[in-house]
Amino acid sequence: MKSNLPADFFDALLHFIYPDVCVNCARTLTASEEFLCIYCEEDLPLTRFEKLEDNPVTHVFFGRVPLVYGDAFCYFKKQSAVQRLLHYLKYMRQPGIGRYLGLFMGLQILTKPWPEIPDYIIPVPLHPKKRRIRGYNQAEELAYGVSRVCDAPVLYNVVKRGTHTPSQTKLSRWDRWVNVSDTFYVENTEYLPPCAHILLVDDVITTGATLEACASKLLEVRNDIRISVFSAALAKG
Ligand SMILES: [Zn+2]
Repeated sequence: MKSNLPADFFDALLHFIYPDVCVNCARTLTASEEFLCIYCEEDLPLTRFEKLEDNPVTHVFFGRVPLVYGDAFCYFKKQSAVQRLLHYLKYMRQPGIGRYLGLFMGLQILTKPWPEIPDYIIPVPLHPKKRRIRGYNQAEELAYGVSRVCDAPVLYNVVKRGTHTPSQTKLSRWDRWVNVSDTFYVENTEYLPPCAHILLVDDVITTGATLEACASKLLEVRNDIRISVFSAALAKG
């Protein structure tokens, strides 16, 4: 039998029985708060990079890969709300946190503003085995949040991770080891228009090696595209 009670009523009832709490301070969240209470949200260590072309993220990639822009939403600090959010996102089956942070990142692109909104968003892929275990890719969840704000589509079938070569029988032992190691490869770039501005999204930038590997692979296949990078957090060196 179909209930006449509105869905909001059940949401409210569920919230009453199992109230959501702030990921950082465990304070009970109000109906308008999500994952973080308003106090912890206001306390996020935002990077607030003034000059997009010359900031700690662009410095990480300087001389390694040409970027249109580089940005990060927060600084990664130990024992901070950011660390807890990213921990819950990666290890506690909370993909919604990715979209939640992605919305902030998208707003940052629009309101800072970035001089140029990306045409497409590509999340750093997870190895398929890891993705199966986790059930989702945290970078892809961030990308969906950014996409919702910036209205740029997410491409998840262009940069892939894992073993690409179908046959390994003719490879040397060393090549075989390299072949099965965690690598990126690129497919389907024919769907990208010339000079497309691609935004690569990841959860944390530490050394920048992962994003650099993705960007290099993309530019190897399509040197006419332009790349920006954006992470939810930047680990200070
Ligand atoms: Zn809190």
